[in-house]
Amino acid sequence: MKYSQNIGKLMHKLLSELFPINRSITGKGVRDTLSIISREIPIKTTKIKSKSKVFDWTIPDEWNVTEAKICTSSGEVVVDFLDNNLYLMSYSTSVDSSMSLSDLKKHIITDKSRPNWVPYSTSYYEDNWAFCLPYNFVKKLNDDNYQVKIEATKKSGHLEYAEAFINNNAKKEILISSYICHPSMANDSLSGVVLSVQLFKEISKLKNLNYNYRFLFAPETIGTISFLYNNKKTIKKSIEFGLVATCIGDKGKFTYKKTRNGICNIDRVINHIFNGRNDCNPILDFSPLGSDERQYCSPGFDLPVGVLTRSIFGKFKEYHTSADNLEFVKDEYLKVSLDLYLEIVKIYEANCIFYRKEPHCEPQMGKYDLYRTIGGGGEDNINELSQQRMWILNYADNETDLLEISQKSGFDVLTLKHASEALVENKLIFKKI
Ligand code: ZN
Repeated sequence: MKYSQNIGKLMHKLLSELFPINRSITGKGVRDTLSIISREIPIKTTKIKSKSKVFDWTIPDEWNVTEAKICTSSGEVVVDFLDNNLYLMSYSTSVDSSMSLSDLKKHIITDKSRPNWVPYSTSYYEDNWAFCLPYNFVKKLNDDNYQVKIEATKKSGHLEYAEAFINNNAKKEILISSYICHPSMANDSLSGVVLSVQLFKEISKLKNLNYNYRFLFAPETIGTISFLYNNKKTIKKSIEFGLVATCIGDKGKFTYKKTRNGICNIDRVINHIFNGRNDCNPILDFSPLGSDERQYCSPGFDLPVGVLTRSIFGKFKEYHTSADNLEFVKDEYLKVSLDLYLEIVKIYEANCIFYRKEPHCEPQMGKYDLYRTIGGGGEDNINELSQQRMWILNYADNETDLLEISQKSGFDVLTLKHASEALVENKLIFKKI
Protein backbone atom coordinates (compact mmCIF):
# COMPACT_ATOMS: atom_id res chain seq x y z
CA MET A 1 0.00 0.00 0.00
CA LYS A 2 1.25 3.43 -0.89
CA TYR A 3 1.49 5.58 2.16
CA SER A 4 4.07 6.63 4.65
CA GLN A 5 6.03 3.89 6.37
CA ASN A 6 5.93 6.10 9.43
CA ILE A 7 2.24 5.54 9.88
CA GLY A 8 2.76 2.77 12.44
CA LYS A 9 4.98 5.13 14.40
CA LEU A 10 2.35 7.89 14.31
CA MET A 11 -0.34 5.48 15.48
CA HIS A 12 1.86 4.32 18.35
CA LYS A 13 2.66 7.91 19.28
CA LEU A 14 -1.03 8.75 19.56
CA LEU A 15 -1.58 5.58 21.55
CA SER A 16 1.23 6.57 23.95
CA GLU A 17 -0.41 9.96 24.46
CA LEU A 18 -3.78 8.38 25.27
CA PHE A 19 -2.34 5.54 27.39
CA PRO A 20 -1.79 7.29 30.78
CA ILE A 21 -5.30 8.80 30.94
CA ASN A 22 -7.54 7.36 33.64
CA ARG A 23 -10.52 6.38 31.51
CA SER A 24 -13.74 4.83 32.66
CA ILE A 25 -17.25 4.77 31.21
CA THR A 26 -17.78 8.42 32.25
CA GLY A 27 -15.74 11.31 33.59
CA LYS A 28 -12.72 13.43 32.80
CA GLY A 29 -10.76 10.55 31.28
CA VAL A 30 -13.36 10.11 28.56
CA ARG A 31 -13.45 13.85 27.87
CA ASP A 32 -9.63 14.13 27.73
CA THR A 33 -9.54 11.16 25.35
CA LEU A 34 -12.17 12.69 23.05
CA SER A 35 -10.36 16.01 23.15
CA ILE A 36 -7.15 14.38 21.85
CA ILE A 37 -9.10 12.49 19.16
CA SER A 38 -10.78 15.75 18.09
CA ARG A 39 -7.36 17.26 17.46
CA GLU A 40 -6.72 14.45 14.94
CA ILE A 41 -10.08 14.14 13.16
CA PRO A 42 -13.41 16.02 13.26
CA ILE A 43 -15.81 14.46 15.75
CA LYS A 44 -19.29 15.19 17.01
CA THR A 45 -19.84 14.43 20.70
CA THR A 46 -23.16 13.30 22.16
CA LYS A 47 -23.88 13.66 25.87
CA ILE A 48 -26.47 11.71 27.82
CA LYS A 49 -27.43 12.79 31.31
CA SER A 50 -26.82 10.53 34.30
CA LYS A 51 -29.92 8.52 35.28
CA SER A 52 -31.27 8.55 31.70
CA LYS A 53 -32.81 5.26 30.60
CA VAL A 54 -31.35 3.57 27.53
CA PHE A 55 -33.28 0.38 26.84
CA ASP A 56 -33.00 -1.66 30.06
CA TRP A 57 -30.01 0.33 31.33
CA THR A 58 -29.61 3.50 33.39
CA ILE A 59 -26.71 5.88 32.71
CA PRO A 60 -24.63 5.91 35.91
CA ASP A 61 -23.41 8.98 37.72
CA GLU A 62 -20.16 10.44 36.49
CA TRP A 63 -17.09 9.12 38.27
CA ASN A 64 -13.97 11.18 38.86
CA VAL A 65 -10.99 10.46 41.07
CA THR A 66 -8.18 12.69 42.29
CA GLU A 67 -6.32 10.51 44.76
CA ALA A 68 -5.99 6.86 45.76
CA LYS A 69 -3.21 5.71 48.09
CA ILE A 70 -2.26 3.06 50.59
CA CYS A 71 0.28 4.10 53.24
CA THR A 72 1.94 2.17 56.04
CA SER A 73 1.50 3.24 59.67
CA SER A 74 4.82 5.12 59.40
CA GLY A 75 3.52 7.10 56.41
CA GLU A 76 5.35 5.29 53.63
CA VAL A 77 3.32 5.23 50.41
CA VAL A 78 3.14 1.62 49.20
CA VAL A 79 0.49 2.04 46.51
CA ASP A 80 -0.27 5.24 44.59
CA PHE A 81 -2.87 5.42 41.86
CA LEU A 82 -0.80 8.17 40.21
CA ASP A 83 1.86 5.54 39.40
CA ASN A 84 -0.63 3.31 37.60
CA ASN A 85 -4.36 3.97 37.26
CA LEU A 86 -5.04 0.24 37.12
CA TYR A 87 -4.26 0.11 40.86
CA LEU A 88 -7.72 1.48 41.58
CA MET A 89 -10.84 -0.46 40.69
CA SER A 90 -12.85 1.70 38.32
CA TYR A 91 -15.83 3.41 40.00
CA SER A 92 -14.38 2.91 43.49
CA THR A 93 -16.07 5.02 46.15
CA SER A 94 -14.22 7.35 48.56
CA VAL A 95 -12.48 5.96 51.67
CA ASP A 96 -10.39 7.57 54.36
CA SER A 97 -9.58 5.17 57.17
CA SER A 98 -6.93 3.00 58.73
CA MET A 99 -7.29 -0.76 58.80
CA SER A 100 -5.44 -3.99 59.45
CA LEU A 101 -3.85 -5.94 56.62
CA SER A 102 -6.57 -8.58 56.82
CA ASP A 103 -9.31 -5.94 56.48
CA LEU A 104 -7.43 -4.25 53.65
CA LYS A 105 -7.12 -7.58 51.84
CA LYS A 106 -10.93 -7.76 51.65
CA HIS A 107 -10.58 -4.80 49.27
CA ILE A 108 -7.62 -6.05 47.26
CA ILE A 109 -8.05 -7.84 43.94
CA THR A 110 -5.19 -10.00 42.67
CA ASP A 111 -4.76 -12.57 39.93
CA LYS A 112 -2.76 -15.56 41.16
CA SER A 113 -2.41 -16.95 37.64
CA ARG A 114 -0.59 -13.79 36.51
CA PRO A 115 1.14 -12.98 39.81
CA ASN A 116 3.39 -10.08 38.75
CA TRP A 117 0.81 -8.02 36.91
CA VAL A 118 -1.90 -5.60 38.00
CA PRO A 119 -5.34 -6.96 37.11
CA TYR A 120 -8.04 -4.66 35.68
CA SER A 121 -11.30 -4.48 37.55
CA THR A 122 -14.48 -2.37 37.57
CA SER A 123 -17.62 -1.93 39.66
CA TYR A 124 -19.74 0.44 37.61
CA TYR A 125 -23.14 -0.44 38.98
CA GLU A 126 -22.45 -1.35 42.61
CA ASP A 127 -20.96 0.94 45.28
CA ASN A 128 -17.67 -0.58 46.39
CA TRP A 129 -13.97 0.19 46.51
CA ALA A 130 -10.87 -1.90 45.84
CA PHE A 131 -7.24 -1.78 44.90
CA CYS A 132 -6.00 -4.09 42.15
CA LEU A 133 -2.45 -5.26 42.81
CA PRO A 134 0.02 -7.92 41.72
CA TYR A 135 -0.41 -11.12 43.73
CA ASN A 136 3.32 -11.30 44.54
CA PHE A 137 3.31 -7.72 45.80
CA VAL A 138 0.41 -8.34 48.18
CA LYS A 139 2.09 -11.49 49.46
CA LYS A 140 4.99 -9.34 50.69
CA LEU A 141 2.89 -6.73 52.52
CA ASN A 142 3.73 -6.65 56.23
CA ASP A 143 1.20 -6.92 58.99
CA ASP A 144 0.51 -3.29 59.77
CA ASN A 145 -2.21 -0.72 60.28
CA TYR A 146 -2.61 0.76 56.81
CA GLN A 147 -3.94 4.18 56.00
CA VAL A 148 -6.22 4.00 52.96
CA LYS A 149 -7.37 7.07 51.12
CA ILE A 150 -9.48 7.28 47.99
CA GLU A 151 -10.84 10.62 46.94
CA ALA A 152 -13.46 10.01 44.31
CA THR A 153 -16.79 11.51 43.35
CA LYS A 154 -19.89 10.00 41.81
CA LYS A 155 -22.09 12.88 40.77
CA SER A 156 -24.79 13.58 38.26
CA GLY A 157 -23.12 14.42 34.96
CA HIS A 158 -22.99 12.86 31.52
CA LEU A 159 -21.94 9.86 29.56
CA GLU A 160 -20.25 10.92 26.34
CA TYR A 161 -19.53 9.26 23.04
CA ALA A 162 -18.33 10.69 19.74
CA GLU A 163 -18.74 10.00 16.04
CA ALA A 164 -16.59 10.92 13.06
CA PHE A 165 -18.37 10.79 9.74
CA ILE A 166 -17.18 10.70 6.13
CA ASN A 167 -20.07 11.77 3.98
CA ASN A 168 -19.86 10.41 0.44
CA ASN A 169 -23.54 11.17 -0.26
CA ALA A 170 -24.26 7.46 -0.17
CA LYS A 171 -27.43 5.75 1.00
CA LYS A 172 -25.67 3.34 3.34
CA GLU A 173 -22.75 3.54 5.70
CA ILE A 174 -19.96 1.43 7.11
CA LEU A 175 -19.45 1.55 10.86
CA ILE A 176 -16.10 1.18 12.60
CA SER A 177 -16.67 0.89 16.33
CA SER A 178 -14.04 1.28 19.04
CA TYR A 179 -14.28 1.91 22.77
CA ILE A 180 -12.78 4.54 25.04
CA CYS A 181 -13.46 3.30 28.56
CA HIS A 182 -10.36 1.30 29.47
CA PRO A 183 -7.66 2.98 31.56
CA SER A 184 -3.98 2.26 30.89
CA MET A 185 -4.17 -0.71 28.56
CA ALA A 186 -2.76 -0.50 25.06
CA ASN A 187 -4.05 -3.39 22.99
CA ASP A 188 -7.51 -3.82 24.46
CA SER A 189 -9.39 -0.64 23.60
CA LEU A 190 -6.71 1.90 22.58
CA SER A 191 -5.25 0.01 19.60
CA GLY A 192 -8.76 0.07 18.09
CA VAL A 193 -9.08 3.79 18.78
CA VAL A 194 -5.82 4.76 17.05
CA LEU A 195 -6.57 2.40 14.16
CA SER A 196 -9.96 4.10 13.72
CA VAL A 197 -8.39 7.56 13.77
CA GLN A 198 -5.84 6.61 11.10
CA LEU A 199 -8.41 4.70 9.04
CA PHE A 200 -10.60 7.82 9.00
CA LYS A 201 -7.66 9.79 7.59
CA GLU A 202 -6.86 7.16 4.94
CA ILE A 203 -10.47 6.64 3.82
CA SER A 204 -10.94 10.42 3.58
CA LYS A 205 -8.32 10.39 0.81
CA LEU A 206 -10.15 7.78 -1.30
CA LYS A 207 -12.38 8.91 -4.16
CA ASN A 208 -15.61 7.61 -5.70
CA LEU A 209 -16.71 5.59 -2.69
CA ASN A 210 -20.11 3.89 -2.60
CA TYR A 211 -20.63 4.21 1.13
CA ASN A 212 -20.46 6.74 3.93
CA TYR A 213 -18.20 5.91 6.87
CA ARG A 214 -19.02 6.35 10.54
CA PHE A 215 -16.45 5.91 13.31
CA LEU A 216 -17.83 5.50 16.79
CA PHE A 217 -15.75 6.16 19.90
CA ALA A 218 -17.90 5.12 22.86
CA PRO A 219 -17.51 3.60 26.30
CA GLU A 220 -17.92 -0.14 25.79
CA THR A 221 -21.38 -1.62 26.41
CA ILE A 222 -23.20 1.36 28.02
CA GLY A 223 -21.87 3.85 25.43
CA THR A 224 -22.73 1.59 22.52
CA ILE A 225 -26.15 0.88 24.00
CA SER A 226 -26.67 4.66 24.23
CA PHE A 227 -25.59 5.14 20.60
CA LEU A 228 -27.95 2.38 19.47
CA TYR A 229 -30.75 3.83 21.58
CA ASN A 230 -30.31 7.27 20.00
CA ASN A 231 -30.31 5.75 16.50
CA LYS A 232 -32.75 2.92 17.01
CA LYS A 233 -35.17 4.06 14.30
CA THR A 234 -32.64 4.45 11.49
CA ILE A 235 -29.65 2.24 12.13
CA LYS A 236 -30.99 -0.99 10.73
CA LYS A 237 -31.59 0.63 7.36
CA SER A 238 -28.39 2.65 7.25
CA ILE A 239 -25.68 0.14 8.15
CA GLU A 240 -24.11 -1.77 5.25
CA PHE A 241 -21.71 -3.48 7.64
CA GLY A 242 -19.75 -2.77 10.77
CA LEU A 243 -16.57 -3.92 12.46
CA VAL A 244 -15.62 -3.70 16.11
CA ALA A 245 -11.96 -2.66 16.13
CA THR A 246 -9.98 -3.65 19.21
CA CYS A 247 -6.94 -5.74 20.24
CA ILE A 248 -5.35 -4.93 16.91
CA GLY A 249 -1.81 -3.92 17.93
CA ASP A 250 -0.21 -7.12 19.28
CA LYS A 251 1.85 -9.66 17.36
CA GLY A 252 -0.90 -12.29 17.22
CA LYS A 253 -2.47 -13.53 14.01
CA PHE A 254 -5.65 -11.82 12.83
CA THR A 255 -8.94 -13.12 14.17
CA TYR A 256 -12.34 -12.48 12.62
CA LYS A 257 -15.55 -13.20 14.45
CA LYS A 258 -18.48 -13.36 12.06
CA THR A 259 -21.70 -11.41 12.16
CA ARG A 260 -24.66 -13.07 13.86
CA ASN A 261 -26.09 -14.02 10.50
CA GLY A 262 -22.70 -15.38 9.41
CA ILE A 263 -23.30 -15.09 5.65
CA CYS A 264 -23.29 -11.34 5.16
CA ASN A 265 -21.12 -9.80 2.45
CA ILE A 266 -18.62 -8.62 5.07
CA ASP A 267 -18.23 -12.24 6.22
CA ARG A 268 -17.60 -13.29 2.61
CA VAL A 269 -15.10 -10.46 1.96
CA ILE A 270 -13.07 -11.21 5.07
CA ASN A 271 -13.15 -14.94 4.42
CA HIS A 272 -11.84 -14.25 0.91
CA ILE A 273 -9.02 -12.02 2.20
CA PHE A 274 -8.08 -14.41 5.03
CA ASN A 275 -7.81 -17.30 2.54
CA GLY A 276 -5.06 -15.44 0.72
CA ARG A 277 -2.93 -14.71 3.79
CA ASN A 278 -0.86 -16.74 6.21
CA ASP A 279 -1.24 -14.46 9.24
CA CYS A 280 -4.86 -15.26 10.08
CA ASN A 281 -6.52 -17.60 12.56
CA PRO A 282 -9.51 -19.73 11.53
CA ILE A 283 -12.65 -17.59 11.37
CA LEU A 284 -14.90 -17.75 14.44
CA ASP A 285 -18.66 -18.07 14.39
CA PHE A 286 -20.68 -15.43 16.19
CA SER A 287 -21.21 -15.87 19.90
CA PRO A 288 -23.00 -13.49 22.31
CA LEU A 289 -19.85 -13.23 24.46
CA GLY A 290 -17.34 -10.54 23.64
CA SER A 291 -17.33 -6.81 23.04
CA ASP A 292 -19.82 -4.38 21.49
CA GLU A 293 -21.02 -6.91 18.91
CA ARG A 294 -23.18 -8.15 21.81
CA GLN A 295 -25.28 -4.99 21.40
CA TYR A 296 -25.07 -4.57 17.60
CA CYS A 297 -26.05 -8.20 17.11
CA SER A 298 -28.81 -8.30 19.74
CA PRO A 299 -31.93 -9.71 18.07
CA GLY A 300 -33.74 -6.35 17.86
CA PHE A 301 -30.91 -4.95 15.73
CA ASP A 302 -29.16 -8.02 14.30
CA LEU A 303 -26.80 -5.74 12.38
CA PRO A 304 -24.14 -7.12 10.02
CA VAL A 305 -21.34 -6.32 12.48
CA GLY A 306 -18.30 -8.54 12.98
CA VAL A 307 -15.18 -8.20 15.10
CA LEU A 308 -11.70 -7.97 13.64
CA THR A 309 -8.83 -8.30 16.12
CA ARG A 310 -5.38 -9.81 16.24
CA SER A 311 -5.27 -11.94 19.42
CA ILE A 312 -8.89 -11.90 20.43
CA PHE A 313 -9.91 -10.45 23.82
CA GLY A 314 -9.60 -12.90 26.67
CA LYS A 315 -7.24 -15.16 24.73
CA PHE A 316 -3.87 -13.49 25.32
CA LYS A 317 -2.20 -13.68 28.68
CA GLU A 318 -1.63 -9.91 28.97
CA TYR A 319 -5.39 -9.28 28.57
CA HIS A 320 -6.90 -6.99 31.25
CA THR A 321 -3.62 -6.53 33.08
CA SER A 322 -0.81 -4.01 33.36
CA ALA A 323 1.19 -6.14 30.89
CA ASP A 324 -1.10 -4.93 28.09
CA ASN A 325 1.24 -1.96 27.84
CA LEU A 326 3.05 0.22 25.32
CA GLU A 327 5.71 -2.44 24.68
CA PHE A 328 3.09 -5.11 23.99
CA VAL A 329 1.72 -3.07 21.07
CA LYS A 330 4.18 -2.35 18.26
CA ASP A 331 4.27 0.12 15.34
CA GLU A 332 4.57 -2.55 12.69
CA TYR A 333 1.62 -4.59 13.97
CA LEU A 334 -0.58 -1.47 14.04
CA LYS A 335 0.43 -0.64 10.48
CA VAL A 336 -0.26 -4.11 9.09
CA SER A 337 -3.62 -4.03 10.86
CA LEU A 338 -4.43 -0.68 9.26
CA ASP A 339 -3.47 -2.14 5.86
CA LEU A 340 -5.84 -5.04 6.41
CA TYR A 341 -8.75 -2.76 7.36
CA LEU A 342 -8.05 -0.64 4.28
CA GLU A 343 -7.91 -3.71 2.07
CA ILE A 344 -11.30 -4.81 3.40
CA VAL A 345 -12.75 -1.38 2.64
CA LYS A 346 -11.30 -1.33 -0.89
CA ILE A 347 -12.46 -4.83 -1.75
CA TYR A 348 -15.90 -4.26 -0.27
CA GLU A 349 -16.21 -1.03 -2.24
CA ALA A 350 -15.05 -2.71 -5.47
CA ASN A 351 -17.30 -5.73 -5.19
CA CYS A 352 -20.40 -5.61 -7.38
CA ILE A 353 -22.64 -7.64 -9.67
CA PHE A 354 -22.82 -7.04 -13.42
CA TYR A 355 -25.40 -8.00 -16.03
CA ARG A 356 -25.52 -7.92 -19.83
CA LYS A 357 -28.37 -6.63 -21.92
CA GLU A 358 -27.33 -9.07 -24.66
CA PRO A 359 -26.17 -12.17 -22.79
CA HIS A 360 -26.23 -14.55 -25.75
CA CYS A 361 -22.73 -15.69 -26.73
CA GLU A 362 -19.62 -13.56 -26.36
CA PRO A 363 -19.53 -10.04 -27.73
CA GLN A 364 -17.24 -9.59 -30.72
CA MET A 365 -14.48 -7.99 -28.71
CA GLY A 366 -12.35 -6.86 -31.67
CA LYS A 367 -15.18 -4.54 -32.65
CA TYR A 368 -14.67 -2.62 -29.44
CA ASP A 369 -10.90 -2.76 -29.59
CA LEU A 370 -10.89 -4.84 -26.41
CA TYR A 371 -9.37 -8.09 -27.61
CA ARG A 372 -6.67 -9.42 -29.88
CA THR A 373 -8.11 -9.62 -33.39
CA ILE A 374 -5.94 -12.54 -34.49
CA GLY A 375 -7.61 -15.79 -33.43
CA GLY A 376 -6.02 -19.13 -32.56
CA GLY A 377 -3.68 -20.33 -29.85
CA GLY A 378 -4.58 -21.52 -26.35
CA GLU A 379 -5.28 -19.73 -23.12
CA ASP A 380 -1.61 -18.86 -22.80
CA ASN A 381 -1.82 -16.68 -25.86
CA ILE A 382 -4.66 -14.63 -24.50
CA ASN A 383 -3.30 -11.84 -22.40
CA GLU A 384 -4.37 -11.61 -18.79
CA LEU A 385 -6.56 -8.57 -19.29
CA SER A 386 -8.52 -10.38 -21.98
CA GLN A 387 -8.87 -13.40 -19.73
CA GLN A 388 -10.20 -11.23 -16.92
CA ARG A 389 -12.73 -9.66 -19.28
CA MET A 390 -13.90 -13.09 -20.46
CA TRP A 391 -14.51 -14.15 -16.86
CA ILE A 392 -16.45 -10.96 -16.14
CA LEU A 393 -18.53 -11.19 -19.32
CA ASN A 394 -19.45 -14.79 -18.64
CA TYR A 395 -20.49 -14.10 -15.07
CA ALA A 396 -22.25 -10.83 -15.81
CA ASP A 397 -25.41 -12.77 -15.06
CA ASN A 398 -27.08 -10.46 -12.53
CA GLU A 399 -26.19 -12.92 -9.75
CA THR A 400 -22.44 -13.53 -9.45
CA ASP A 401 -20.37 -10.82 -7.78
CA LEU A 402 -16.72 -10.00 -8.38
CA LEU A 403 -15.79 -11.79 -5.16
CA GLU A 404 -17.13 -15.04 -6.54
CA ILE A 405 -15.57 -14.43 -9.95
CA SER A 406 -12.29 -13.84 -8.16
CA GLN A 407 -12.57 -17.18 -6.38
CA LYS A 408 -13.40 -18.99 -9.62
CA SER A 409 -10.77 -17.28 -11.77
CA GLY A 410 -7.90 -16.69 -9.35
CA PHE A 411 -7.72 -13.00 -10.35
CA ASP A 412 -8.02 -10.64 -7.42
CA VAL A 413 -11.08 -8.46 -6.95
CA LEU A 414 -9.37 -5.12 -7.52
CA THR A 415 -7.76 -6.36 -10.75
CA LEU A 416 -11.12 -7.64 -12.00
CA LYS A 417 -12.73 -4.33 -11.12
CA HIS A 418 -10.10 -2.53 -13.15
CA ALA A 419 -10.64 -4.94 -16.08
CA SER A 420 -14.39 -4.30 -15.97
CA GLU A 421 -14.08 -0.57 -16.58
CA ALA A 422 -13.68 -0.75 -20.37
CA LEU A 423 -16.57 -3.22 -20.57
CA VAL A 424 -18.78 -0.76 -18.69
CA GLU A 425 -17.64 2.14 -20.88
CA ASN A 426 -18.54 0.14 -24.01
CA LYS A 427 -21.95 -0.77 -22.50
CA LEU A 428 -21.17 -4.48 -22.71
CA ILE A 429 -21.94 -4.88 -19.01
CA PHE A 430 -24.00 -2.88 -16.53
CA LYS A 431 -23.63 -2.63 -12.78
CA LYS A 432 -26.54 -4.00 -10.81
CA ILE A 433 -27.69 -1.34 -8.39
ZN1 ZN B 1 -11.56 -5.06 27.94
